[in-house]
Amino acid sequence: TVRTRYAPSPTGHLHIGGARTALFSYLYAKKHGGSFVVRIEDTDVERNVADAEQKQLAGLKWLGIDWDESVDVGGPYGPYRSMERLDIYKRYLDKLLEEGHAYPCYCTPEELEREREAQLARGVAPKYSGRCRHLTPEERAKLEAEGRKPSIRFRVPEGRTITVEDEVRGRVQFESDGIGDFILVRPDGRPTYNFAVTVDDALMEITHVVRGEEHLSNTPRQILLYEALGFTPPKFAHVSLILNPEGKKMSKRDESIIQFIDQYRELGYLPEALINFIVLLGWAPEGEEEIFSKEELIDRFSLDRVSKAPAVFDTGKLKWMNNHYIKQAPVERITELALPHLEKAGRITLPIDEEKRTWVTRLVGLYQEQLDYVAQIVELSEMFFRSEVTYSDEAKEVLTQEHVPEVVEAFLKQLGDVDTLTPDDIKAMLKQVQKETGYKGKQLFMPIRAAVTGEVHGPDLRETLSLLGPETVRTRLQHFME
Ligand code: GLU
Repeated sequence: TVRTRYAPSPTGHLHIGGARTALFSYLYAKKHGGSFVVRIEDTDVERNVADAEQKQLAGLKWLGIDWDESVDVGGPYGPYRSMERLDIYKRYLDKLLEEGHAYPCYCTPEELEREREAQLARGVAPKYSGRCRHLTPEERAKLEAEGRKPSIRFRVPEGRTITVEDEVRGRVQFESDGIGDFILVRPDGRPTYNFAVTVDDALMEITHVVRGEEHLSNTPRQILLYEALGFTPPKFAHVSLILNPEGKKMSKRDESIIQFIDQYRELGYLPEALINFIVLLGWAPEGEEEIFSKEELIDRFSLDRVSKAPAVFDTGKLKWMNNHYIKQAPVERITELALPHLEKAGRITLPIDEEKRTWVTRLVGLYQEQLDYVAQIVELSEMFFRSEVTYSDEAKEVLTQEHVPEVVEAFLKQLGDVDTLTPDDIKAMLKQVQKETGYKGKQLFMPIRAAVTGEVHGPDLRETLSLLGPETVRTRLQHFME
């Protein structure tokens, strides 16, 4: 059965690139009725960040990428945190040492650096020279006596061509002679990524490794390790880079796009929109359709439609897609997401009572079609929360038309001193005004809209006036007439 994994290092929040890797792995496993594992690769202890593991998991959960096995739910292949597997790595390291696939290296960082510089000066690609490969037991004992703590290196076989049959990139070949003997375990006993990942993927019986292209060059090392350890390698699928909207490689500090999943969540992007958008960063469905639910994606996903060309992040498309899902969502759900934004902007105080909630729900309903992300509600609905209207140039122009005072006056008369105002009331009032003044259509609505809202465009007029309430509408119209 298919088993895939997402193996984040707990160094930061869930990134779009990580989310895509996780999503592809997840979809592939689910499509084939398999299991999806989340493993935390925390052996780079200097780079670990305290709450990153929790943030990664929370991000995945929010996106709807749920796992079958991981640090929280456990599973038959645990533990799922590398630092809790040190005894396991030790066992396999001993085996490699015994069989001559690995050896202790006593070189200090300074010595290695000098070696590297000399190689660069000679114009050759730097690689570990293999100096400690052939140390005799006496030489080793001497170096140990100096107090040197060895790292353990893998003895890379000479003259080999290593072939990666990549599910995305096809056949990629590497020469073993270009690969220096690499470190498996550091002097303090912690494994390096290449060693830990191989042992873990093998013991966790991972069948398909889906990960970023940046790991392609690690793959021949891992394949050699599988071989030395007597394991069968999984299938590999290396997905391409994600480029920023300008088509350039993005760095973590690139500000041309928002890079972390929780930032999208905070702005009011919907998880189903993000998933739908992210899956298209590199995967192309058959046909023209672009909108897919998670279930449809599970049904349709395949690795052979993952492109090896880089994917370009199109912010406009993401907004379009999120708007699509917002429009389809129940207004109550969007309101729930809007509340904290409105509170933060000082527009409401939480908690709110039922009456106010009904009002906010109607307000959100008024703008739901326009929202690219929910936080935009604050700006869009600004007019509802101002005591004074500011008139746009277009509104000013409308309001200079000769017939305007007559229309406004007639509407004010209809308004009288009512203290409730439903959209139907307004409909009736406008009808009356039309009868009395003879103006209809734009000539009737525009003066009212412009005088009350200060804008010539906006959502449904009746609902807008109804939500503003009779007080405000009256005050604003009177203010205009003065
Ligand atoms: N911990 C590695 C990373 O975060 C995982 C690489 C892999 O999937 O093998 O890049």
